[in-house]
Parts: sequence; C-alpha cells; structure tokens
Amino acid sequence: MGCCVKKKKSQYLLNKTDKQPEEPEEEKDFISIKVKLTYEDFIPLKLLGRGSYGQVCLVRMKLNNKLYAMKVLDKSLLKAKNQELHTQSERDLMVKIHCPFIVNIKSAFQDEKYLYIISDFIQGGDLFYHLHQSHTFDFERAQFYIAELVLALDYLHKNNMIYRDLKPENILLDAKGHIKLTDFGLSKMLNYSKEKAFTICGTIQYIAPEMLMNKGYDKCIDWWSLGCLIYEMFVGKFAFQINRNTKLNFELYNKKLQFPRRMDEDAKDLITQLLIVDPKKRLGYGNNGSEKIKKHRFFEGINWDEIWNKQIIPPFEPELDDELDLKYFDSQFTDEPIESFTKNPRSRETSYEYKNFTYITESVKNELLIVQEENNKNDK
Ligand code: ADP
Ligand code: MG
Repeated sequence: MGCCVKKKKSQYLLNKTDKQPEEPEEEKDFISIKVKLTYEDFIPLKLLGRGSYGQVCLVRMKLNNKLYAMKVLDKSLLKAKNQELHTQSERDLMVKIHCPFIVNIKSAFQDEKYLYIISDFIQGGDLFYHLHQSHTFDFERAQFYIAELVLALDYLHKNNMIYRDLKPENILLDAKGHIKLTDFGLSKMLNYSKEKAFTICGTIQYIAPEMLMNKGYDKCIDWWSLGCLIYEMFVGKFAFQINRNTKLNFELYNKKLQFPRRMDEDAKDLITQLLIVDPKKRLGYGNNGSEKIKKHRFFEGINWDEIWNKQIIPPFEPELDDELDLKYFDSQFTDEPIESFTKNPRSRETSYEYKNFTYITESVKNELLIVQEENNKNDK
C-alpha cells in the first residue's frame, strides 16, 4: 500500500488572460474506424489520481484483458472553466506524439457526460510520490531523470509543441524506472516554430516570468520549468516559494536563488542558467538551445544516443510484485472504494459534442477486429 502523501501539491493557474483563442489544429492523422470503444468495454479497478477536471483510474480492457490508465474528464466542469479547447488539444497532441519518454495514447472517446483518454498504465508512480519519499534525489538519479526529460522536451519542441506543465506530478516512472511524461492538458501546438503563445497557464510554482509579461512567450518556458524541477530534485523544496495567496509579479523572480552549502557545483550552475529571467539569455533559448543544454558540464559522461535508446540501466528500479502492485501510488486514491470514483454526482449532462475526439490506435483496433471476427465465426 502506498503511504499518504502529505507534501503540498503545486497549484494550477489557469487562463488568466486568453489573448489568443487556441483553436485546435485540424486533424491530419485521424484513423477512420468502424470499431469504437466505450466505457462499457473496461472494468474500473482502482483510482490512481485526481485532477481539476476529472480523475485517472486503472482499468482492464475486457477485450484483451490488458491494463490501461483511463483519464475521465467531466464535460460540465470543462465547460464551466472554459477548458474545452485545452482538452481537445490534449487528445490531438497525444495522437501525434511517438517518443520513448512520453506516455502513449491508445484510444479516446466520449459520451454525454465525460471524455475518456486511454493510455498505457505506467506502474512506477509519479515523481511527486518518489520525491516525497526520498525528499531529494542523489546526483546519479537526478541526472538520469533530467537527461531523459531533456530529450522528451526536445522532442516536443522539435515538433513545434510547448509542454507548459512540467512538474513532478506529470512525470511518471515505468516499471523499469524510465521517465514517461504525461498530461498534455495545457500543451500547445504551434503553427510554426517561432510562433508565440499568450495564454497564462500552468502551475504557479513552475511558470516562467515572461508568461506574466503578456507579450507572448515561446518554448523556452519549458526550460525554465525544468530549472525549477531540478532545483526541487536537489534541494527538496520549490525554487520559488509561491503559493495561492502570492501576488504573481516579476519581482518574485529577481531574488537570488538559495542553495544548500554542499550542493553540487554543476547542478547549481545548470539550475542558475535555466532560471535566467530573460528568456533570450536563458540556457536552452533558440532553435539549437537543447544542444547547449546537453553540452552543459552537468551531463559530462552522458552518451545521449544511449539515453535515447534506453541503453542505460535506470539508477532506481521500482520493485513491483505483480501487474496490480500499486505501491507507488498514493493510498489516498487507491484506497477509495470503487463506487466513489465510478459515479460522479457532480456531473451534469452537457450537449457539447467534441468533434473528432474519437481515436483508436492501430494495434488496439486490430485486436478489436480479430475478436469481432472470432465472435462472428462462433455465431455462425
Ligand atoms: P490532471 O490533468 O488531472 O493533472 P494527469 O494526466 O496529470 O491529470 O493525471 C493525474 C495523475 O494520475 C498523475 O499525477 C499520475 O499520478 C496518475 N496518472 C496519470 N496518467 C497515468 C498513467 N498513464 N499511468 C499511471 N498513472 C497515471
Ligand atoms: Mg497532471
């Protein structure tokens, strides 16, 4: 059983100004399907986590008996908070992404009340849980996670996406101990590489100062969040002590960062360079910015091809008894009785129909077709 996580979670900041409405990209690689999944095709097993608009549960697909994570989003809540476009974009982005360090989407569908996103179940838990367990990570462990994350963010940036919500809660560990980034709810697809985004969104402890300037920002905001995350991994607290009552302003970011006396000098330098307030001077800025990050002394000895090909044995391997072992998930969720999360009393019916939301990946589609064929044969 996982222990109850008491550390304070970071807080969302959403849609303070929506200068540019974010229209979802027209779908290009939509797979037309005859076979569709619905909620009835899954058996809900456990609650894994809860967010602002819904929840994530562990489910078993009846068809193939495999485990998946099901993100269920409440349409009425999304509507009330004007988050419909973000959710459409979460699904649109996820179907485009194929990266070893990012969670794979398997299917997406909807009914009157909810949106469902099915992805691989990542059993090692999130970094929020692990960081809370050990307070900080040792150099080797932090370096390994950061290297994989640099490649994940670089992949997104090269595909003209800004992630916008890097934080420990959104970084999962797979059963072997490799990183899997999840939660594309706030990510943005740019139309061209230098396009700027304007929406102020993200999680207050990790948002980059230029977001507050209302002059537009680019991919470099993700490198700022990475700096905040690395600080947390080494120091065990937020780089900027911001809470719900803090008035966000530029001054907050001009203060000198405090480091413990025996902090690794290379880590300190990397954090300091990623947390440079002026994005143009920040490490990681520009088209080849990620190359400069990769060459930083902190990564000395890292072979980036080996990292990409997962040839490095992770410094921490989750100890899992079986496929249903949920020891790395917060018992605050996993102990909840199944009835409480399969029936959500808050939800009201809403007529908003998300266009082109339904998706099924080829492999699951083929499995569905095979089962259907077998059923047809048996019926004859
Ligand atoms: P939200 O948008 O509400 O933050 P997330 O997608 O971040 O939702 O999921 C919430 C939590 O659920 C995560 O912090 C993580 O603990 C858990 N989770 C999400 N996706 C998965 C997955 N594919 N496998 C295992 N756990 C997951
Ligand atoms: Mg999240």
